[in-house]
Amino acid sequence: MKILALAGGVGGAKLAHGLAQVLPPQDLTIVVNTGDDFEHFGLSISPDLDTVCYTLAGLANPQTGWGLAGESWTALEQAKQLGAPGWFNLGDRDLGTHLERTRRLRDGEALSAITADFCSAWGIGPQVLPMSDQPVRTMVRTADGRELAFQNYFVELRCEPQVRGFRFAGIEAAQPAPGLLEAAAAADLVVLCPSNPWVSIAPILGLPGLPAALAAKPVLAVSPIIGGQALKGPAAKMFSELGIAPSALAVAEYYGELLTGLVLDTLDADQQEALRELGIISLATASIMQDPADRARLAAEVLEFGQSLLTHA
Ligand code: GDP
Ligand code: CA
Repeated sequence: MKILALAGGVGGAKLAHGLAQVLPPQDLTIVVNTGDDFEHFGLSISPDLDTVCYTLAGLANPQTGWGLAGESWTALEQAKQLGAPGWFNLGDRDLGTHLERTRRLRDGEALSAITADFCSAWGIGPQVLPMSDQPVRTMVRTADGRELAFQNYFVELRCEPQVRGFRFAGIEAAQPAPGLLEAAAAADLVVLCPSNPWVSIAPILGLPGLPAALAAKPVLAVSPIIGGQALKGPAAKMFSELGIAPSALAVAEYYGELLTGLVLDTLDADQQEALRELGIISLATASIMQDPADRARLAAEVLEFGQSLLTHA
């Protein structure tokens, strides 16, 4: 069964790692949000792409979910001592990734080609695609009338401003990365990882041509909202500030027509009836991924659920 998985950073990476454990590498393509990408210290930084790749390579910091395990911070400490901004954490080894990515981008290479080479250097089997080679930048509109670049909202301001909406600057001119529409066409099942719907999955779905490529496919989402809360990050806060009570059901309603089925936590099993009324079939299971074994178990359940959809379709 060929799978196309859509992922943001920490939540997406965990399920992507589960899928990578249970599928042959040639059957899995992971497309990653680049709306979080930004330039800092003159470097091109792709936080979600790096989180997914570090996780798949077994290099991620298990405590944070982002960054590298066993990281040191000497370069940033030195820069801070000289007056540099310190709000974005850049570890020494991680800096090496950004240096090399930036060097190659400056030489005119495509982000997708650079990512493919990094993946082979890291021994990553499945195909990992940045969503586009053209820059897309998530902008956050706030209640006090500002429009903030995503990392300023997310890291510098710790998601404190109230959100009113989002804009994905550059999306109209962005093309799906080379191979993405082909992977969509070849997929038997599309999986929306338990990533932030508003700022991790929406930019990918906003790419010209992608919704049409997915329209005829069975699409399963894993809810990032459990018991009305996000495990981490502002997903639930965003739903609330946009006037929607956060829930697994709200995630399904957000994805709307695109969605065939939802995997939600057993804690939210009482929402399955309402989902059925919406025409969304669902699977309730333990959906918190604490360790690599949890990821593989949840991924296997998602695939089994997907398989049952295919056979009943
Ligand atoms: P970011 O780009 O690093 O913010 O990460 P994502 O957008 O990929 O994922 C953020 C979402 O992942 C949050 O809304 C979390 O609730 C969700 N999440 C994190 N870990 C888990 C998990 O183990 N299970 C589920 N179901 N959701 C998770
Ligand atoms: Ca992200």
